[in-house]
Amino acid sequence: MTETKKDLLYEGKAKKVYATTKPDQLIQEFKDSLTAFNAQKKGSFKGKGTVNLKITTCIFNYLAKMGVNSHYLKTIDDQNILVEKLNMIPLEVVVRNFAAGSMSTRLGITEGTLLSKPIVEFYLKKDELGDPLITDDHVVMLKVATVAEIDHLKSCALKINIALKKMFSDIGIDLIDFKIEFGKNKKGEIVLADEISPDSCRLWDKATGEKLDKDRFRRDLGKVEESYHLVCDKILKVWGKH
Ligand code: ADP
Ligand code: UDP
Repeated sequence: MTETKKDLLYEGKAKKVYATTKPDQLIQEFKDSLTAFNAQKKGSFKGKGTVNLKITTCIFNYLAKMGVNSHYLKTIDDQNILVEKLNMIPLEVVVRNFAAGSMSTRLGITEGTLLSKPIVEFYLKKDELGDPLITDDHVVMLKVATVAEIDHLKSCALKINIALKKMFSDIGIDLIDFKIEFGKNKKGEIVLADEISPDSCRLWDKATGEKLDKDRFRRDLGKVEESYHLVCDKILKVWGKH
């Protein structure tokens, strides 16, 4: 690879982050591990990192064409991408089109209920607190983002939702919800970061309702590997050449 991995800066649950020879660029290595429930449940399958890398980069390429800039710079190989180094905003920004997961549990809404409009939620990225749901006022009070930045994050998340819904709908999949992360580059611009993959989205087959995402692992539904590969094959076939 032309880009050289320098120090390992961080090892997360799904990726390793390396410094490069350039101070404003990082290499993200997608790992084969799968974790859930704040890493209390662990698993893996061979090739999972590659599948998530391919789905993420396909989505980031399409989003760039739709006017949403991400940290993605280039693919190095099957497990590594070069990205813009960002100062991460410690929020998990979740967009929901249908009720599922923690929203269904918290509010008592049956999983799969269509929401009258997409909802944006903020979770504070803090493993030791279990990433709690927080309000806009909490975000400002904690100095995680300003009111103007919150508005920008929300409108950006909703724009991403429109693009993702189209991408998945065209391959016969309903986008139930997803999580994204943002950071600031050295110019102070807010940029989409991290990954968008079956690890971070709920994806249900439109025809059968079958889950094609990390819930298969979380809930011991089987066919985890097959589902990730199915999503990857379908998205690349239709959107890989766009
Ligand atoms: P986690 O930290 O939740 O275990 P990962 O294993 O995916 O997650 O680790 C990737 C880490 O890299 C995350 O903490 C994420 O916030 C961070 N990250 C993602 N994109 C960038 C970027 N462009 N610059 C700096 N950090 C990033
Ligand atoms: N999500 C994620 N990382 C997290 C928490 C949630 O990628 O640490 C994604 C999850 O895959 C789903 C969406 O965010 O697509 C909403 O998750 P939810 O709040 O329902 O939490 P969960 O039920 O997964 O605990």
